[in-house]
Amino acid sequence: YYNEKTMLFFNGKFKKAATTTTDLYGQTLHYGYGAFEGIRAYNTSSGTKIFKATEHYERLKKSCELINIPFQYNIDELIERSYELLEVNNLTDAYLRPIVFCDPNMSLSKPNGVNIMICAWKWGTYLGNNLLNLAVSSYCRPHPKSIKIEAKVCGHYINSILATNEAKNKGFDEALLLDTDNFVAEGPGANLFFEKKGQLFTPQLGNILPGITRATIIELCKKLDIKVHEGQYNLEQLVDADAAFYCGTAAEVVGIRAIDEKEFQLDWEKSLGKKLQSAYKNLVLEQELVLQNQ
Ligand code: PMP
Repeated sequence: YYNEKTMLFFNGKFKKAATTTTDLYGQTLHYGYGAFEGIRAYNTSSGTKIFKATEHYERLKKSCELINIPFQYNIDELIERSYELLEVNNLTDAYLRPIVFCDPNMSLSKPNGVNIMICAWKWGTYLGNNLLNLAVSSYCRPHPKSIKIEAKVCGHYINSILATNEAKNKGFDEALLLDTDNFVAEGPGANLFFEKKGQLFTPQLGNILPGITRATIIELCKKLDIKVHEGQYNLEQLVDADAAFYCGTAAEVVGIRAIDEKEFQLDWEKSLGKKLQSAYKNLVLEQELVLQNQ
């Protein structure tokens, strides 16, 4: 992720990643009380572009607010600093990781003060490019009455790590998590769509992270005249689908081959997922929809 030349952005300044330090008595390290983002920059025909930068930093702000961490940063400035960070590290295609974390405080009360760090590195597609074999996890997504499920909070990722490790230990590529009512929810770091009879279905908001890629896919479907339903779906409905895919900033759009070894019947190359995978790639590289929206 970094070497002795790598720079990161830390509380208003660019610093060397290898020598920048922080305290060991903070609520983020001890309790997972912090928020972060995962953002991608692409080398487009008109230069390096951070895809949906505003949406990601707005979500970071919202995540902080939802867990009572004061967000004292200007979003336009964070975006500018993000571009500078890419430049000082000579990065074009890259993954950016902003994190807001807390000052020393061992109590469970509100933070004494907050810090922001943004780092970036070159990262290939998170789940690879092959179709995925998913295992239904024995872990369910946290109940929305226990945490702020719509926030991207550090500590929530213990659930994702447990599910990922369980799936990998069983020889699968990735996990699929249900919610506490046994409806299909999402992956450890990606949202789910499935196709049935030429239409798409995706779990509704409420028990999942509201993915920016998920929203982008829904936008793309409007443009491409693909009907998308958002609802509560059980595992039988998913397994009975024609095809399925995961989507997320790190994963982009990746097809699913099978769930617990039950294969989808539709050839991925002929699926809506494949069509959307190409449309998404095109969008992030050309920034078409973003330009239209501005
Ligand atoms: N769900 C979870 C649990 C995630 O961690 C992610 C990755 N941020 C996603 C879905 C996809 O979100 P996005 O498209 O905003 O990256």
